[in-house]
Amino acid sequence: MSIETLTSAVRSIPDFPIPGIEFYDITTLFQSASHLKELSDILYDRYKDKGITKVVGIESRGFFMGPATAIRLGVGFVPIRKPGKLPYKVIEETYTKEYGEDTIQIHQDALTNEDVVLLHDDLLATGGTMVAAYNLVKKLGVKKIYINFLIELEELKGIDHFPKDVEVNSVIKF
Ligand code: 5GP
Repeated sequence: MSIETLTSAVRSIPDFPIPGIEFYDITTLFQSASHLKELSDILYDRYKDKGITKVVGIESRGFFMGPATAIRLGVGFVPIRKPGKLPYKVIEETYTKEYGEDTIQIHQDALTNEDVVLLHDDLLATGGTMVAAYNLVKKLGVKKIYINFLIELEELKGIDHFPKDVEVNSVIKF
């Protein structure tokens, strides 16, 4: 299956969640068994030889392909969540969004300095969310971090906000 086929399965919704925003809807991509299989194969092939020990997914759309990829790679899955959701001791990172601030958290014992992490989310826009997630995971002293998105909105240049030595990949580019 071509990347164009996957790309055309993403539905674009104008003015969601607020006027002026074009929202890329991934539910139409996930609806199809063959598209889901192709996405899973692409992620597996890309990361199978990287020594990944944990996939870390960002709430909430990183919870679809994150665990699916962890199962394919034969590794564990760790959630990054919004405040008040994780029950044990957490560390957190606060970041600035277009309107106001946001905070994300991870369990403080979820990762160790032995871990090679694949950090996953559905979509890269400005990069604010993933840069905060990268900083959060780094605080736990892991060995190495790879970053993956299903979709990258290239004109927002979110990719420029990551350190140059970090491998950042996406499957579908708009
Ligand atoms: P950023 O922090 O890079 O500006 O925004 C990315 C975050 O917002 C991701 O967690 C992503 O799930 C969400 N997001 C922003 N815009 C979209 C969109 O058009 N479609 C989807 N599926 N998620 C979006």
